[in-house]
Amino acid sequence: MTSIKHNLMTVKQQIEQACQQAHRPVEQVSLLAVSKKKPAEQIAQAHSAGQKQFGESYVQEAVEKVTQLQHLTDIEWHFIGPIQSNKTKAIAENFAWVHSVDRAKIAERLNEQRGNQDTPLQVCLQVNISGEASKSGATVEQLPELLALVDNSEHLVLRGLMAIPEKNSSAQSFEQMQALFLQYQAQYPTLDTLSMGMSGDMTAAINSGSTMVRVGTAIFGSREA
Ligand SMILES: *Cc1c(COP(=O)(O)O)cnc(C)c1O
Repeated sequence: MTSIKHNLMTVKQQIEQACQQAHRPVEQVSLLAVSKKKPAEQIAQAHSAGQKQFGESYVQEAVEKVTQLQHLTDIEWHFIGPIQSNKTKAIAENFAWVHSVDRAKIAERLNEQRGNQDTPLQVCLQVNISGEASKSGATVEQLPELLALVDNSEHLVLRGLMAIPEKNSSAQSFEQMQALFLQYQAQYPTLDTLSMGMSGDMTAAINSGSTMVRVGTAIFGSREA
């Protein structure tokens, strides 16, 4: 067995355990394998072990791998990195999902540039839940307007909220995200995804209602800085 296949099994067991502890059905939590800075060959290995959803953070690197792996037609690519406006076209054309939309200009460009694809783009809004000045993400105050904008966009589907909380306040941030998610789900029926939890904190995230954990290191090993 390859180490990637082994690691995938271990991560899935961790997810199962976290779900049991939280009294949640395991089907509620999906695993996004974060393959940034890892070669296409390792993605193919994970794919042959049954993993279909992959997350990437750097547009140019991702597009190269999407092209290299075009023959694996059931891969679903998710963009999870910070978005510069000159990169939206490449994102709209190469990804099924985006987790990191955090301002109106980006949502508007993605909607326009998705227009010539067969399927709409699945969108999560990134929330700067720890209020860090250096972090991407919309503030809690900016969310209502952004949710309405994405919901009204023909080529976008409003799917969820995403956060990368500060390490030392993550449990509290996860709870705040869960409260926001539940609040807005009542208003937007397509909202079904709470994207939070990484290799180091997926158990806490699942305990606070995460429906998609984004895991890199625990599957592919550490990345070069
Ligand atoms: C890199 C990254 C991850 C994965 O982090 P690990 O600690 O390697 O599991 C998850 N989410 C985002 C947004 C990332 O950039």
